[in-house]
Amino acid sequence: MNSIRSLASLFVLQSCLVCGSNLQDKSKLCAKCSLATTLRLRRGSVGELPHYYALEYNAVTSKLILLAKEDNLRQAREILAAAITFAIKELLAREENRINLIPIPSRPAATRQRGFLHTQELGLSATQLIPTSGIKVLPILEIFGKVKDQSALSAKERYQNIHKMVRVKRSAEIPGATELNILFDDLVTTGASALEAVRALKAVNLPIWGLISACAT
Ligand SMILES: [Zn+2]
Repeated sequence: MNSIRSLASLFVLQSCLVCGSNLQDKSKLCAKCSLATTLRLRRGSVGELPHYYALEYNAVTSKLILLAKEDNLRQAREILAAAITFAIKELLAREENRINLIPIPSRPAATRQRGFLHTQELGLSATQLIPTSGIKVLPILEIFGKVKDQSALSAKERYQNIHKMVRVKRSAEIPGATELNILFDDLVTTGASALEAVRALKAVNLPIWGLISACAT
């Protein structure tokens, strides 16, 4: 089966995930779209929390996020995961630490509609890119109650929409305070969800080292 597939790939032209232009090799993106996904460690903060990300937010990265999130496209997710692992590798040489990646949770309605846990899958994809490290994905947070889709809301509305709507799952095993606990997401815009996640984690006395996202506005 594999040999049939690889034979077929000799004849089927590959196309860029984002713009659809023909590719000469097995890369996922054309040269132009690749340029828009250049990895560089970028720093910011959300409230008092240090925030790191590796991709600029632009037409290409926003399309990649949609392809990963709404179409469950593995190749798009791998590009976002590579951005997260890039930031981790740039920041953390301390391999003796156990690193826990805590996903900022999605709205339950969105997860039901998609049929998969987008951020959790992104984290798992990231751990596969650094297989020998002690990185684990810990999906200990959940959104409960009615939360609207944030995309059309202003910064203030987003804060009001999500405030006190995130909690640590009852069944969750809380990691030790000596481990490096990192919040992560695909995209951080206003930071309202991240701040709410921090509030929920403070309630169980779990210190958070920082926030890493693939991309930010
Ligand atoms: Zn392209």
